[in-house]
Amino acid sequence: MTARTSAAGSVRRLQGLAVAGWPVGRLARETGLTAYRITQLVTASPKTVTVDEARAVAAVYVRYSGASPGLCGVSHVHARAARDRATAAGWAPPAAWDDDTIDDPAAIPQWTGHCGTSRGANLHARHGIPLCPPCQAADERRRLAREARALRALSTNHA
Ligand SMILES: [Zn+2]
Repeated sequence: MTARTSAAGSVRRLQGLAVAGWPVGRLARETGLTAYRITQLVTASPKTVTVDEARAVAAVYVRYSGASPGLCGVSHVHARAARDRATAAGWAPPAAWDDDTIDDPAAIPQWTGHCGTSRGANLHARHGIPLCPPCQAADERRRLAREARALRALSTNHA
């Protein structure tokens, strides 16, 4: 039986590399996985990968997350297509992940340094970054709290 591990870190690394402009074809060649498997990992986010897959993805991530696709032979058109698709899907860039927690399934990407709090939601707005899911939830909690306060004020006025 092949040893398996959580897919979270592999999915995040591949998505982050796509945001950085690395096309699926190049990631497939470097990791030794098929393009189909890479696409499956980034889009379907399966629960587990084999340990070999996780190691291959992590090794490529170490080499490429800080490198420029353009300087490594990826054409401008291909890099932009990868980046556009990844950004449209809302995937987090490598900068949003900490090497210590990227493999922790419970970790959330830090777009702002304060994601998951009202402050994070404000930072998204200030920097024009679309709200990430944890900040969307924080924003929603804030909206509900505001409505509850308004309702309380209203009922107090009528008392
Ligand atoms: Zn956020």
